[in-house]
Amino acid sequence: MSVHPTIYLKKGREDSLKRFHPWVFSGAVERMEGSPVAGDVVSVRSSSGEFLACGHYQKDSICVRILSFDSPELPKNFWYERLQAAYDARKASRLVGNRDTTCYRLVCGEGDDLPGLIIDIYGGTAVVQCHSVGMFRSRSEITDALRQVYGIGLDAVYDKSSGTAPFGRNNESSDGYLWRSANYDPSSYKECLEYGHRFFVDWEKGQKTGFFLDQRENRRLVEKYASGRNVLNLFCYTGGFSVYALAGGAKHVDSVDSSRSAISMLERNIELNGFGKGSSEAFCADAADFLNCSPDGRYDMLVLDPPAFAKHRAALPNALKAYRHLNASAISKAASGSFIFTFSCSQVVDHDAFALSVFSAAASVGRRVKIVDRLNQPADHPVNIYHPEGEYLKGLALYVE
Ligand code: SAH
Repeated sequence: MSVHPTIYLKKGREDSLKRFHPWVFSGAVERMEGSPVAGDVVSVRSSSGEFLACGHYQKDSICVRILSFDSPELPKNFWYERLQAAYDARKASRLVGNRDTTCYRLVCGEGDDLPGLIIDIYGGTAVVQCHSVGMFRSRSEITDALRQVYGIGLDAVYDKSSGTAPFGRNNESSDGYLWRSANYDPSSYKECLEYGHRFFVDWEKGQKTGFFLDQRENRRLVEKYASGRNVLNLFCYTGGFSVYALAGGAKHVDSVDSSRSAISMLERNIELNGFGKGSSEAFCADAADFLNCSPDGRYDMLVLDPPAFAKHRAALPNALKAYRHLNASAISKAASGSFIFTFSCSQVVDHDAFALSVFSAAASVGRRVKIVDRLNQPADHPVNIYHPEGEYLKGLALYVE
């Protein structure tokens, strides 16, 4: 018998775990032995009692997030081993110890066999974001393991879980430093490099963990094509795409976001990279309104990187409609010979559904449009092959004749 509370699955519901899918849905549960509370590690067994996996329990539609398929209990060095494996993978993809890029995602949830956990690295600061109660309750083990993996390379661990850990009304979480070295001064640590471009990242007040690291490679592509172009960067946040476009020799970049603080940070980032005010303008506005009011043909490069339009499956039809409208408007406004970089970060919208909504957008406008690239999330946002749901960022690079 296992020492942990145990969940027995309904007959025939063990198949997905045998294929290493890391979630147990509440509908698959037959009965429970013991009375686990949210965040406890529970064992999962088939209806015949065969051990399948163990993971964090939560009274939710996903009721167990699997941590190990090997043993009913987590081994002593579990956290260190998982974080070290994640670190080794980043090292292999040349993100660790890279002088030009000092920020990357160290842990990407299921993609790193740690469902419910995100850890982003900004220079010497690790920003931990827990999306499950179990991860939230493991923050001190996670902090210890981070210190073990990075040694003197780590200056601080910041917890940014208040908006993501699911505590409902009894929110126990408030953001703050879980650990920092004696002489840590956050203000002097907040500048990061991405492919040599400088960005000020505010993990305390910014969105998500402070920066959208998942667009690193797509920003490079924008840089590659930007020379001499008039660029419109919609949903620009702190200006990732704008800085790369200017570095690539764009004639002018207009950037639009509805968040005033994002816009002021963008202005700071443009300046930090040595680009003058003449070549860049930033607007705090609704992106769709701004686009609709702009004259036809003003821009010959457009970036559309909206927030997730569909946060769950029920919102899918409306989300597809919203992607279609936004893209139709961009395609109709684009000058001839334009590039459009268009994205969706909604997990429930897959590549095909997104491509279909962009296709109907083009058809509704009636212009000649070519797909010149299919865009994705980068190596530090890996997709666990057994968990295709982890593929959330998709995009298309279009050429409008
Ligand atoms: N492209 C950005 C990340 C975009 S995240 C980067 O590379 O860093 C989505 C952004 O859309 C957020 O900054 C959010 O403030 C902004 N946003 C959300 N709704 C908006 C709207 N209706 N109009 C303009 N911006 C909006």
